[in-house]
Amino acid sequence: MTTPRAQKILQRLDLLAELSDRQDCLCREFGTLASAQGRDLVRQWMKEAKLKVSVDNMLNIRGVLDLGKPKTFLMGSHLDTVLNAGKFDGTLGVLLAVDQAERLEKQDLMLPYNLEVVGFSEEEGVRFMKPYLGSMTLAGTFRPEYLQLRDKEGITLEQVVKENGQTPQAVMQDGFSRAQLAGYLEVHIEQGPVLDQLQLPVGLVTDIVGQQRHQISFVGLAGHAGTVPIKQRKDALLGAAELVTYVEKLALEYRDMVATVGTLEVLPGRINVIPERVNMSLDIRHAHKDEMQQAVNKLREKTSSIAKKRQLLSYWEALSEVDSVQCNTQLNAVLRESIMESGYPVKHLVSGAGHDAVVLSGITPVCMLFVRCKEGISHHPLEQASLEDIESAIKVCDNFFDKLAAI
Ligand SMILES: [Zn+2]
Repeated sequence: MTTPRAQKILQRLDLLAELSDRQDCLCREFGTLASAQGRDLVRQWMKEAKLKVSVDNMLNIRGVLDLGKPKTFLMGSHLDTVLNAGKFDGTLGVLLAVDQAERLEKQDLMLPYNLEVVGFSEEEGVRFMKPYLGSMTLAGTFRPEYLQLRDKEGITLEQVVKENGQTPQAVMQDGFSRAQLAGYLEVHIEQGPVLDQLQLPVGLVTDIVGQQRHQISFVGLAGHAGTVPIKQRKDALLGAAELVTYVEKLALEYRDMVATVGTLEVLPGRINVIPERVNMSLDIRHAHKDEMQQAVNKLREKTSSIAKKRQLLSYWEALSEVDSVQCNTQLNAVLRESIMESGYPVKHLVSGAGHDAVVLSGITPVCMLFVRCKEGISHHPLEQASLEDIESAIKVCDNFFDKLAAI
């Protein structure tokens, strides 16, 4: 049995999915006409829920259930999408937050905090290759130089903010102080297959993984594919191949570690020439910083030993590093009880993808609830969360806020 609340959320997801920058697929990038239209719809729904609505200078839409309390609890997710997106990623969390605020307002439930629902404007980082612009604004970590970021057409973030009727220089004043916030809850589709395989509707996120990105190169010597004997070659690709398989082997030695070589550039890249240089990428993720660093150190050592054995040169360049985030123990205890009271076993999950909660964790305790998505598919039109699972998420959120009200 599903309730009108879950059906309303699904209808709203459909309405938002019709708003796209492109005709051929769903795509709502930061600051576009479709994103403004999406914001207008959410504004209307927030008003129906009797929230005080505003749009801040980074185009986040914010609806407040003002209970006259000194602190505010945040709930939300993001409204922007990737190219050729599904309709649930991010948006589901925003609509569940609007639904929850509406229930709290109608039932006159006295929370010890105000509730602010946030539809973040930019989480995916598609347009300016910089994720989390929306949540960084709330967390007070947005830096003025980001306003000069340019999209593919050369348009700056500053221009886009202005075109949308906001004041770029005021972005830095849109943040909260730590003292103003009580916590943040984000509901998001899992984007992985674990809940689907276990046939569970929801899961509790314990950690959001940290991530390191590296560029590795092997350099050998090009030569004729027909005349240089195998034993006398300095084949850079063979070095890279050894490292690629070692990446898999090493990742399997750690619980919940994932590591991916996603690009491999072979130079000069001719069918009859021994590869002289290979540039490869490494993306490695884990919930514990020390273990990830240990794995990266082992990979660096392995890279050097492969190069030495094969008489190659090797180069290693660290590109980026984001620390892992632990969800808040107290909030997770409340969420755990809420899941159990809703009648579901509690599955602990580590999020392999980043979320706005990562940024907000710098300023307030965060927790996350994952909702099963069919076969773990996301960032794709086939992404799907069922009506029944949306219902389950509503139930858990109801219990969560009832518990917060009782504290
Ligand atoms: Zn997302």
